[in-house]
Amino acid sequence: MIFKRFDVLIVGTGISGIYAALNLDKRLNVLMLSKKELSLCNSALAQGGVAAVLDPANDEKSLHVKDTLIAGQYKNNLENVEILVEQGPRDVERLIEKYGVDFDRNADGSLALTLEGGHSRRRIAHHKDTTGKEIETRLIEQVGKLENVTVINNSVLCRLERENTMFFADVYTENGTHEYYCANFVVMATGGIGRVYKYTTNSAIATGDGIALAYELGAKIKNLSYVQFHPTAFADKKNNECFLVSEAVRGEGAYLLNCNKERFMPDYEPERKELAPRDVVSKCIMEEQKKTGSDEFWLDISYKPADFIKQHFPMIYENVLEKGYDMTKEPIPIYPCQHYLMGGINVDGKGATNIEGLYSAGECSHTGVHGKNRLASNSLLEALVFSRLIAEDINAKDLTDSRAEIEYNMSAPDGKSFSNKSEIQNEIRSIMQRAYFVYPNYEETEKGLKRIKEIKQALENGGYEINADYTETKSLATVAYIILSEIWERRNEE
Ligand SMILES: Cc1cc2nc3c(=O)[nH]c(=O)nc-3n(C[C@H](O)[C@H](O)[C@H](O)COP(=O)(O)OP(=O)(O)OC[C@H]3O[C@@H](n4cnc5c(N)ncnc54)[C@H](O)[C@@H]3O)c2cc1C
Repeated sequence: MIFKRFDVLIVGTGISGIYAALNLDKRLNVLMLSKKELSLCNSALAQGGVAAVLDPANDEKSLHVKDTLIAGQYKNNLENVEILVEQGPRDVERLIEKYGVDFDRNADGSLALTLEGGHSRRRIAHHKDTTGKEIETRLIEQVGKLENVTVINNSVLCRLERENTMFFADVYTENGTHEYYCANFVVMATGGIGRVYKYTTNSAIATGDGIALAYELGAKIKNLSYVQFHPTAFADKKNNECFLVSEAVRGEGAYLLNCNKERFMPDYEPERKELAPRDVVSKCIMEEQKKTGSDEFWLDISYKPADFIKQHFPMIYENVLEKGYDMTKEPIPIYPCQHYLMGGINVDGKGATNIEGLYSAGECSHTGVHGKNRLASNSLLEALVFSRLIAEDINAKDLTDSRAEIEYNMSAPDGKSFSNKSEIQNEIRSIMQRAYFVYPNYEETEKGLKRIKEIKQALENGGYEINADYTETKSLATVAYIILSEIWERRNEE
């Protein structure tokens, strides 16, 4: 087979992938892949904003480090937290100055920084409640101007192999055909794993493909069981849909209420109340559920002026109104939901994995900055800082091979048709919901792990045709397998 060569292959066009591309030398020939259309990714869904010390008169980097460590239960990689906090403000400023990202401002022109759970200072730069979309849109515009970067959407990386120092990629396109590329360097920026759960805020692309492919290649995967469950996803029993109700709503004063419409967070967290870190709030909700026997919970900001709510949270206001709730007048129903992955492909302070030439950035990576639980709005910052560091590391390397095309022997993607995607994916999701949702359930983990192993082996050895459905399903099985294995191995640590 003939593989078309690029210097760098970036898998993913979310904020981490695109910011890496923007920071690579223009001499490098770069290929970017997006599984679907460019805007379908977790980056475009980010509501709250990006956290950084941007107002040094009222904030300190040591406080941002401290807040990050407290939220992460001190399981963070301190060296990388310091890189994040130290270098982050410059990357946010670059977004504004170089790429034209528009963050909300005060009347005097200064950045209107907001507060979110776990932050001791106002340090979240945001664009109303659609920050991710604003950043993603501006960066995509910029990357479109680069002659050295080719972006191909609706193309799924299905297989990645490595021989000598070259990576070989099998890409399944929307036409049902395969295309073959190779690259000296690969940046995995494939996002989260939310779709391994039934209830998630994540976009449909979040099936953990990059993590599974890196794992198969021998990359070290770390702390994949560090999954964040956001306490406030919109959860109306009439509407079978979860979408995020940003932490910033609590940051601006919303109360959490139980089924009796009583405030309960002060009983569990007398000081931090609703602004305790997300994992703490999610656990308090589950405790309160045990107490009241009801899974009905509400978020109430209706005591604030209607204009304030509409101005700060236009998208959330419209979304819940569409579902029949006016948040300026009444509480809205919420419940915890899978939201974010702290673990992933293990990388060092330059975003490099244990496999030479393979890098990882953004949600699929594990830099260790989040520890056991991510501090709100630190993930966009992590995506920016570490993807830039990856680009700088690659920029400093010599290219050992610059041929236009390379012949490589990869097995043909043919096989029997894979028709039971929904059935298998639903089974994986049900297992994960039972085994590990907010808390691990060890009995279900033991049972689930056994079954997931069978599913994974059947997929790997079934002789199926390699296409998008098969790849995503195998990725979900792999990710579920790694998460549950880790939960089981750590069962005596809690
Ligand atoms: C609802 C919501 C709100 C959030 N709010 C915030 C917030 O306010 N602040 C904050 O800091 N963080 C927030 N986050 C988290 C943050 O948005 C993400 O962690 C971050 O944007 C991830 O960026 P990424 O580039 O790593 O991945 P993504 O943006 O998810 O991009 C992944 C890319 O990989 C591609 N891809 C995946 N698999 C393949 C494959 N096999 N082949 C080809 N391409 C592939 C996808 O097509 C996509 O382009 C939020 C997340 C959600 C879901």
